[in-house]
Amino acid sequence: MAASVLQRFKLGETAPIPVDRIAKGLGAVVRYSALDNELSGMIFIKDGTPIIGVNALHHINRQRFTIAHECGHLELHRDLLSNEVHVDKDFSVPVLLNRDNQSSLGTEPIEVQANRFAAALLVPLPLLQKILHGRLASADIDDESPLDELARKFRVSKSMMEYRLKSVSATK
Ligand SMILES: [Zn+2]
Repeated sequence: MAASVLQRFKLGETAPIPVDRIAKGLGAVVRYSALDNELSGMIFIKDGTPIIGVNALHHINRQRFTIAHECGHLELHRDLLSNEVHVDKDFSVPVLLNRDNQSSLGTEPIEVQANRFAAALLVPLPLLQKILHGRLASADIDDESPLDELARKFRVSKSMMEYRLKSVSATK
């Protein structure tokens, strides 16, 4: 689903992915406001227009993840949003993406789905693979830890990049 969204907007060839543009492209209005620290964001539909609320006090990478997560709800769970405001509290990327922890945290499947969507949107595997391949072909091969550099390039957290790098190696 994330890949088809990227394709629709002709994005995914370069990092970082302009997630705010994608939200707009999906017809959503993104509002940034100072929220309580444990609140990451929310989404609701007002008069047919999806409104995405983002905690402006959070780190920019986290705001980007929140927008991508809410876009996931919009694409995957729109029917569930028609009557309610969906509020996302403190979601921890590495925990929620980890299948093993799901049950112990009582994580809702739709949250896991929205997180996976966000991961695929923010760090498309074909692009990550292309960049990794380019690195191997260049003198960068001496660089032992590409994690920071890649996280910076894609403007995502290190834990998100770690997760995506694992996904890349899993597809090999
Ligand atoms: Zn959510």
